[in-house]
Amino acid sequence: MKRAVQAKGWRQLAAWMLAACLALPLPSPAATKMKLRGYVTARVDDRTLAILDDQLELTTASVIKGQDAAGERAMTMAELGPGMLLEAEGQWLDRHKFFAEKVTVDLKDAERQIHGAAYLQEEPGETSKISGGEAAALKADGYWLDVTAQTRREWDTAKVAAPNATGGGTPAKDQALAGYQVKYSGVRRNDGRIGAERIELGAPAPVDAYKMPHDVAVVEAKDPLTGIAVIEFRHGNKVQGRMKLFPVRGVQEYVTTLGNSLLPAGNQGTSKALEFRFFVVEDSSINAASLPDGTLLINTALLGAIQNESQLAFVLSHEIAHVLQVHYWREVHETRGQRVGLIIAGVAAGAFIGDIGLFMAGLGIASVVNGHQRELENQADRLGLQNVIEHGYDPREAPKFCRMIIERYGDRSTSKVWSNHDSSLLRGSFLTVQLMRQYPESQFEQMKRDSSAFRAMREAMGPVKIE
Ligand SMILES: [Zn+2]
Repeated sequence: MKRAVQAKGWRQLAAWMLAACLALPLPSPAATKMKLRGYVTARVDDRTLAILDDQLELTTASVIKGQDAAGERAMTMAELGPGMLLEAEGQWLDRHKFFAEKVTVDLKDAERQIHGAAYLQEEPGETSKISGGEAAALKADGYWLDVTAQTRREWDTAKVAAPNATGGGTPAKDQALAGYQVKYSGVRRNDGRIGAERIELGAPAPVDAYKMPHDVAVVEAKDPLTGIAVIEFRHGNKVQGRMKLFPVRGVQEYVTTLGNSLLPAGNQGTSKALEFRFFVVEDSSINAASLPDGTLLINTALLGAIQNESQLAFVLSHEIAHVLQVHYWREVHETRGQRVGLIIAGVAAGAFIGDIGLFMAGLGIASVVNGHQRELENQADRLGLQNVIEHGYDPREAPKFCRMIIERYGDRSTSKVWSNHDSSLLRGSFLTVQLMRQYPESQFEQMKRDSSAFRAMREAMGPVKIE
């Protein structure tokens, strides 16, 4: 009975999602009101703003409002500038020209005063200075925090404990803090670094945060009928769904090698049950997913759309950050408050999964495919950018990838993170703004963009179906 109710709910959800997809407005009819959301990447002139390649035209009749914790206030065109997150309501006049009747600015996002919390993705370099009250630099949350004599610190390694397998806590050692949480507040400086006003060391995420919900296991296997390589989602001894692995071994190996080379050092040595695995799965939508246990699924369509190794390194680094920052778990615990029930009844046991997004929704982890809330996506982007820069890649390829997606695939009515126009615009403009704010003096010209290994991999893939 319960199962029947769940199945019904599932069908309703599927129907609703389909309707939502079909109801997505198309960009052509000028009469249709549209919303555009993104970070201002440039001010073109008095009445024109740019969000990546799209130009936002305003008139004196445009209503401009700013929103912050205190509420709403009227703003003028002169106050609008690069870095601001805004939502514009209006119409497309042309392919890249948008007339904004109403603009709402998210003022919280533009503040120089910032605060946040992140798990350390690697061992901090100057721990003894930090605990000793000295000036130090701390890499956290995709930023460099400058800790000074004025910085208030709660950095007691004896007080914060790592959860261990027996349920008790192991006090932190000064030299093994990768995986521990840092909370911080500070001010963004012109050089892109953060002057830390306060830092606080906290415990790592519990071991459970790195587990698949409902104890679902992701296992490499062979399809019993065809013998082709698959990954299986098993619940107990029941196979809930299968995905075809892309059959060219060199392609799988290339992605695994690149992925492993990008793993931050903090991945080792903590108490978490985490093992990163990279799988190229046959799927014609431009997307990638990171499961809580470190399983990364890279769709063939994404791999086919990506133009160079730097872009792929960014996508992988972004997904790795989702795992290391336990975003699925944080969403469940900090926002939704409860876990979504297991409703994979709609998928025939052992069948190939048609839509990974719907399948993950059934597991209660739709966000690993459809995207997390903006703050968490921004965090994954910041950490992803920092990671590729440290690995010698040109980070400008990251927003370039988003622009290419919008240009080539943007008009498609799909809800997928990496291929949806709205989210590509938001992500691409955030990445552009982040590079401007945080790396203002950087010269990326000499950095790596492509490799012969990437081109050989693309060659080996052959033509790729993208829809
Ligand atoms: Zn993401």
